[in-house]
Amino acid sequence: MSTNLKEILKPGAHVVVVGLGKSGVSAVRFLLKLGVKISVSEGGRQENLEGDLVRWLEEKRVFVETGGHTSELLTSADCILVSPGVPLGIAPLAAARKKGILVVGELALAKDFLAAPMVAVTGTNGKSTVTTLIGDLLTGSGKKVFVGGNIGIPLAEYLAGPQDCEAVVLEVSSFQLDSAGEFRPQVGVLLNITPDHLDRYASYGEYVDSKMSLFKNQQPGDVAVINGDDPAIVEWLAKAAEQKSPWPLRSEIRRYSSADRTGMKACLCGTKVRINTTDESDKNIEEYELAGTQLAQAPNTENAMAAILAVRAMGCSPEAIQKSLAGFTPLPHRLALVAVVDGVSYYDDSKATNVGAVFSALAGMKQPVVLIAGGRDKGGGYEMLRPLVQEKVRGMVLIGEAREAIAETFAKITKIAFAEEMGEAVQLARTMAEKGDAVLLSPACASFDMFKSYSHRGEVFSQAVSRLGRQEAQ
Ligand code: ADP
Repeated sequence: MSTNLKEILKPGAHVVVVGLGKSGVSAVRFLLKLGVKISVSEGGRQENLEGDLVRWLEEKRVFVETGGHTSELLTSADCILVSPGVPLGIAPLAAARKKGILVVGELALAKDFLAAPMVAVTGTNGKSTVTTLIGDLLTGSGKKVFVGGNIGIPLAEYLAGPQDCEAVVLEVSSFQLDSAGEFRPQVGVLLNITPDHLDRYASYGEYVDSKMSLFKNQQPGDVAVINGDDPAIVEWLAKAAEQKSPWPLRSEIRRYSSADRTGMKACLCGTKVRINTTDESDKNIEEYELAGTQLAQAPNTENAMAAILAVRAMGCSPEAIQKSLAGFTPLPHRLALVAVVDGVSYYDDSKATNVGAVFSALAGMKQPVVLIAGGRDKGGGYEMLRPLVQEKVRGMVLIGEAREAIAETFAKITKIAFAEEMGEAVQLARTMAEKGDAVLLSPACASFDMFKSYSHRGEVFSQAVSRLGRQEAQ
């Protein structure tokens, strides 16, 4: 049975926002517009909240609970809006659900409160890149677009405003999908599924189901853009074809592939993306040139296919798409070439916080690689990288908490050194690398054991590379 959130979030209703991060604050702003009674429950301590935020909440007569979530507050709600950082299994949320209280995240608001057509992008890796690229392609086609969600501005913030865009592009994480209610994007894009966040899922199968749930509420007429090369996705689709998946897929599936043409809507043909690959008349075939653009190297070739299929489904013309592809600049810390020093290319791929991202970075490298990896382990293991390490990695410099675990996996197949900090790691990598090689920071781990964030880690790497450049120049 469908739930109309407009019926629940009526003036006078009591809504508890759980988690006061960026998305929680936007949720409060959205709820203020509806005239409901608002409470906020924040796990962190009051003194860690910004003074301005606390004053603003007081001014708006929002009740604030800090230092943990109590069942007393949560079970007094008519509806709970939960932030993606809060695990859905915690006892006070379970108690609320047991009482029949609706617990949803901001994506669930889209069904009843969002007017514009929506593209939603998920996957273990490449979400931000593809979300940004789709935003650029739609904008280049003359549309006014909101780009946000898990990247940048939360959806609730857009819903709180005048909603003056013609299209909405959202990056969505698996955590957001787990509380997405009847979220139904007109175009859903699933890039890949490889092990990640296994600390929050009971099994890998559960994580795969979470990603696939992007398409759960889609209906005929909606479009599912799917990576046709991804083993976990292919397996799930095969189950769906035999009616053995947890729910059926009703939307039109458009697959893309770097390797294959059969059954694909898009494939790679040399340096071109070809759409309608199996059109026998040849009349409807479209081609998009990636050579000379910043999308010419894998995995960005895959990202380009996904984005082109999505915006074609949104009505963009091939001419406008080709023009915008040429102008696309990748986001920082995603396989960005920092410098070439003494014939060695240094790449900052600090955003590669899981093995899947490192896999695709190594797969796309044409030259031998000295890999700088390590950080806080995310529990997925490193075995998946073994064949590529054997084929392409000249040596590894390992940092952070996970260095022993990574060393254990690869000790027999490549040279390994340990470094205490990034400057030392870059120096060691330089001694291992030969002219023509790449030194690649692609950590396969979270950054928090040594850095404030992945971007901080990438900046420290870039600074160390600059110092190296200055040494060489002297
Ligand atoms: P996300 O938002 O999913 O974290 P990003 O676009 O920020 O994705 O990229 C994160 C990491 O994943 C980067 O290291 C990047 O090089 C890598 N990456 C980008 N696109 C893909 C892809 N299609 N498949 C695998 N890895 C990718």
